[in-house]
Amino acid sequence: MSWGLIGQERAQAALERGLADGRAAHAYLFVGPERVGKRTLALKLAQALNCEDDERPCGECSTCRRIAGGIHADVQTVTVEEAEDDEGMRKGIHVSQIREIERVTALKPFEGLTRVVIIDPAEEMNAAAQNAFLKTLEEPPPQVVFVLVAVDESRLLPTIRSRCRRLELRLPSLADVEAALLERGVEGERARLLARLSRGRVGWALEVADDASLLERREESLAQARALGSMGVAERLALAERLAGGFRRDPEGLLAELGAWRGWWRDVLLVRSGSEDGVANIDRLPELREEASRCSREGAAAFVRALGDAGRQLRENAQPRLVLETLLLGAPAAEA
Ligand SMILES: [Zn+2]
Repeated sequence: MSWGLIGQERAQAALERGLADGRAAHAYLFVGPERVGKRTLALKLAQALNCEDDERPCGECSTCRRIAGGIHADVQTVTVEEAEDDEGMRKGIHVSQIREIERVTALKPFEGLTRVVIIDPAEEMNAAAQNAFLKTLEEPPPQVVFVLVAVDESRLLPTIRSRCRRLELRLPSLADVEAALLERGVEGERARLLARLSRGRVGWALEVADDASLLERREESLAQARALGSMGVAERLALAERLAGGFRRDPEGLLAELGAWRGWWRDVLLVRSGSEDGVANIDRLPELREEASRCSREGAAAFVRALGDAGRQLRENAQPRLVLETLLLGAPAAEA
């Protein structure tokens, strides 16, 4: 049977073996980097547990379709909400949400065979929520399967982890991503480029393949990344201010922009080090070579690190303008 997942044959086979033996676990932990298909796999598991066909999951029956569409009464996702706790308003998965799940899972499934509760991202459960959830796991209700989805499992209590069947999803190879894009009708050269740019994040590659505006945005981001080198201090400060304003309106957009810059500078570094094979922006080799000839290896390496640090600091709610000013003032300057 095909679960439509790319490059996750191992995780899928492990899951299928358990289901074939009729030994579904009470709780699963799906671990892996962003955008590799953890959530898709969780929904496939929910389908496999509830499908009306003999070949499960068929993907076609009304149950499978409603699960995929997020409208099946017995398949729920618990995710980050803003709520009040001891330290004020906070984003996270809160104990009140876990209590609600306890209440619902005490009831029999409404329409299907097995209730499935997906907690995504599970590591966003705060301490109180994790403790409450641990109690649920210690005496799991019948006809319920929990699926914890996590990028950083180290933030989960060891006692929670030890009660889950763990499946690791890895980044698929670029060849797997390219093949998947070709199969969806993406033209050859474009498929190769998108696979490279995705660095294995299938979800991203498929999204870009469907939405040309995302590639246009990449053009703008790369132009900006290239322009940095020739900017003076005043220009850099003005850009930092503009980007900080952009961050307030659209944080994810700015983080994506910094991600594109980082990809560019990582490529500059690769070219500078004589490893052109690993370059992601393969359609831009001439510009990358030109840039690499103008900056030092150390300068490019330091800026790649600084871009990663800046992204983390922005996610942790540091002062955006300060973070961006520091970042831009440290960008390598092209040697005249
Ligand atoms: Zn089905």
